[in-house]
Amino acid sequence: MAEVFVVAGAANKLTYEMLTMARGLGEVSAVVLGAPGTADAIADKLSEYGAAKIYVGEDDALDAYLVAPKAEVLAALIGQHRPAAVLLPSTQEGKEIAARVAVSLDNGLLTDVVGLEADGTATQSIFAGGIVVKSQVTRGVPLVTVKPNSLTPEPAPAAGERVAVEVAVSDAAKLVTVSDRVTEAKGDRPELTEASVVVSGGRGVGSAEQFSVVEEFADLLGGAVGASRAATDAGFYPHKFQVGQTGSTVSPQLYVAAGISGAIQHRAGMQTSKTIVAVNKDDGAPIFEIADFGVVGDLFKVLPQAGEEIKKR
Ligand code: FAD
Repeated sequence: MAEVFVVAGAANKLTYEMLTMARGLGEVSAVVLGAPGTADAIADKLSEYGAAKIYVGEDDALDAYLVAPKAEVLAALIGQHRPAAVLLPSTQEGKEIAARVAVSLDNGLLTDVVGLEADGTATQSIFAGGIVVKSQVTRGVPLVTVKPNSLTPEPAPAAGERVAVEVAVSDAAKLVTVSDRVTEAKGDRPELTEASVVVSGGRGVGSAEQFSVVEEFADLLGGAVGASRAATDAGFYPHKFQVGQTGSTVSPQLYVAAGISGAIQHRAGMQTSKTIVAVNKDDGAPIFEIADFGVVGDLFKVLPQAGEEIKKR
């Protein structure tokens, strides 16, 4: 049976999605590259979702913030084992590692893949999610980055055999070192890409201070807070919470868009949400075209009022 690599850096939903997707192609081997101790923390989960083997490459050189050394080790591993395909997360880091490996091995690369057939045909979401195409890699080992929230992950217990990977990092890949790092305190809210409820605010929120209205509503629902690019560019909310083509892709059970017009680039990151609620004072706003429920009104009235109702229940 063909071997399929899944590059897994964390135990999260996207990793489980990749493992589930990879199972349709062959026998799944997870590849964990990171600082010492990375694999121990996630190995059980990788096995639970179907990794029959786990290649573990751990070294201080494989720092969480550096991609070049990881790309080098992964390229060597691919060269040794020639898997049928290599799946990576469609995150900034995953795409950069995939691109570097593709160039170094002269292999084909498909990004933002939402489905994979047994013969390697990929369904790709392109042009900000506006077009879906079927594509296939025609040269080398296919490198595939998987878009978050593409499928529902399913556990498949497997006894994960661990194989140590020799980590040889060339001087060329060590051109940059991380000298300091800032660790942001994790808040109580769920991760944006994993939350079942996301409440996002747009330019209509008006200021950073007024984003508290969005935060309060999200907290009432136990949800994460998101933002449009107009809101993050204006400094209303940090960039890492941006939803859309150049931000995160979310697919929660409930997505509330407050003061967001619904530009194609924003939709690209949220249009697969199960239920979409839009609050906008302009009844012609494009967000209403994809909303399951629309409230035409001032978000500063609608969200607090809805919040009061929720508190009563
Ligand atoms: P606007 O379009 O200005 O809409 C604000 C809305 O708020 C309006 O509909 C208005 O009626 C409403 N409003 C105002 N006041 C209130 C109130 N008190 N109550 C209720 N409603 C109110 N955008 C993203 O979001 N994510 C991306 O990842 C992204 N990537 C991009 C990539 C590229 C290459 C480009 C070119 C653009 C990208 N954009 C992205 C930007 C996108 O085109 C839009 O400009 C952006 O989404 C608009 O944000 P917005 O809806 O908050 O602002």
